[in-house]
Amino acid sequence: MKNICVFCGSSPGIDPAYLRMANKLGEEISARGLGLVYGGSNLGLMGAVAKSTLSGGSCVTGIMPKVFEGKVQHPDLTELIITDTMHQRKAIMFEISDAFIALPGGFGTFEEMLEIFTWLQIGYSSKPCGILNVNGYYDELLKFFDKAVEMRFVRKEHLDAIIVDTDSKKIFDKFEKFKLVKVDKWIDR
Ligand code: AMP
Repeated sequence: MKNICVFCGSSPGIDPAYLRMANKLGEEISARGLGLVYGGSNLGLMGAVAKSTLSGGSCVTGIMPKVFEGKVQHPDLTELIITDTMHQRKAIMFEISDAFIALPGGFGTFEEMLEIFTWLQIGYSSKPCGILNVNGYYDELLKFFDKAVEMRFVRKEHLDAIIVDTDSKKIFDKFEKFKLVKVDKWIDR
């Protein structure tokens, strides 16, 4: 693994534990000699993870659509890639990253992580992805994912492929052991 892509809130959220985890994750990324790939913003958890990764001496690549250029971008990025569209931004994030972690966030974060989960189940991606479930932030969503399995819209194997942890070190240990189980996407065909 070389680059870790982090999806997270452009807001800090109400619980200080979210910012603490963003800082810790940045420290963990640099302690492992990895680089960070993310949305390029200076705001919220995004700004925090970038700052702590840079403080540890690692490279940070921000990828931003041109609509945000010059408005919210982090000033100290190792590299800033400006794209025409949001779709191009996500495509580059996917190409240059070896694993994906979602921290707490809003619609932007949900959309990004769900796209990666979708690509995993159709075999378009075999890169590990996980959720850092800080203080139970994602508990209800994870419960809903169980319902989707129970209602036979998602395969249990595909849900199990998503790594969930509350600890920024353990999630990396699980990434290293990750092996994609290939099963057909469709259920009850
Ligand atoms: P949200 O969770 O709705 O705050 O959105 C955060 C996610 O959307 C991040 O993971 C980013 O990749 C993307 N995003 C939000 N703001 C920006 C921004 N200013 N530039 C690039 N991407 C952003």
